[in-house]
Amino acid sequence: MSKDSLATQGGSPVREKFLPYALPKTGAEEAKEMLASLESGWITTGPKVKQLETALAEYTGAKEVICVNSCTAALHLCLFALGMKPGDEVITTPLTFCSTVNTILQAGGTPVLVDVEEDTLNIDPVKIEAAITSKTRAIVPVHYAGHPCDMDAIRAIAKKHNLKIIEDAAHAIGTTYKGKQVGSLSDAACFSFYATKNITTAEGGAIATDDEELIKSARVNSLHGMSKDAWKRYTSAGSWYYEVVSPGFKYNMTDLEAALGLHQLPRLEDFISRRQELAAQFDRALSEVDEVKAPVWRKDEGRHVYHLYPIRIDLQKLSCDRAQFIEELKAENIGTTVNFIPIHYHPYYRDTLGLKPGSLPVVEAAYDALISLPLYPKMTDADGEDVMRAVRKVVEAYRR
Ligand SMILES: *Cc1c(COP(=O)(O)O)cnc(C)c1O
Repeated sequence: MSKDSLATQGGSPVREKFLPYALPKTGAEEAKEMLASLESGWITTGPKVKQLETALAEYTGAKEVICVNSCTAALHLCLFALGMKPGDEVITTPLTFCSTVNTILQAGGTPVLVDVEEDTLNIDPVKIEAAITSKTRAIVPVHYAGHPCDMDAIRAIAKKHNLKIIEDAAHAIGTTYKGKQVGSLSDAACFSFYATKNITTAEGGAIATDDEELIKSARVNSLHGMSKDAWKRYTSAGSWYYEVVSPGFKYNMTDLEAALGLHQLPRLEDFISRRQELAAQFDRALSEVDEVKAPVWRKDEGRHVYHLYPIRIDLQKLSCDRAQFIEELKAENIGTTVNFIPIHYHPYYRDTLGLKPGSLPVVEAAYDALISLPLYPKMTDADGEDVMRAVRKVVEAYRR
């Protein structure tokens, strides 16, 4: 076998050691802070969560940040605070993680999926306008891959129709739009600190908001619906007495998680720079590969933080499909994934939303060709070169 044969055909892979699709990057400070939490005896919600909330409010420019145990919890609390009645509709994108839509349902709403823009793959404001009915209550835009949505257009629609905007900003801590941080652009933004996200607390999330009503509701409902500052009840400042004022949830973040976040947040700007460097390296390499389209960054609109680097392969120019392409990359020792399987392709949503294939043509065509390449701060330039060599190798093998 020649050196350039595909690994699936007995050739040697482009690298010896498998490059995982995503890895977190943590340092000695995180470990030290977690250990200090353990030694202090205060391991669940306490002073470190408060400290992280303050730091995140400062970073995003939001009046208040509420840390919780996931972005899913953050979304649920924001949507729950709307007090939706049966039949109330919430508009969102089909190109997202299932929890965006699950939480709309759990909060009593009906999800309405609107197709995406061809270039950024973010929700298309023109199609939002067309989907609004007398029952629409809110819009949940997702800043896909870390590229800001067209927030001016979305805000204008929300204002005109008196709708709330709750951003799924799981990919978008540090994303800016026209000079402003995500977290200070709408009624609320929900961040994720899951292990693969741009900063991590292992599991975790946060709500950034200026809305007093939402703050009150989310604070109380994040901890069983117990009245204000229930977490203080085990300190000398607290007392044994509390009242349940709402049937809430158990969504609080722990101090152990916040200990990680306190040292991840100061690293965020460096992480974003490194992500942008790797993205630029990929952009340059892919500009010479006709069969692969790099993700778009509309630079005049804001800062792209490259949580994902989703390429689209040209199925007309290749004799393999996306699944085969992924298998080949895996054999070359490059881990990838697909973000995302469109919501209406999942059995539950296919059966309940009544959206037949063909009803959201832009996302459907994009999905057939989408592959997320590994891109994270722990990667070296050499890792990046391996990814590009593998992509070129597979393209050359399947070029029509
Ligand atoms: C990761 C992700 C979520 C969920 O985040 P968790 O913190 O794991 O709950 C929600 N929406 C999108 C778009 C995501 O990528």
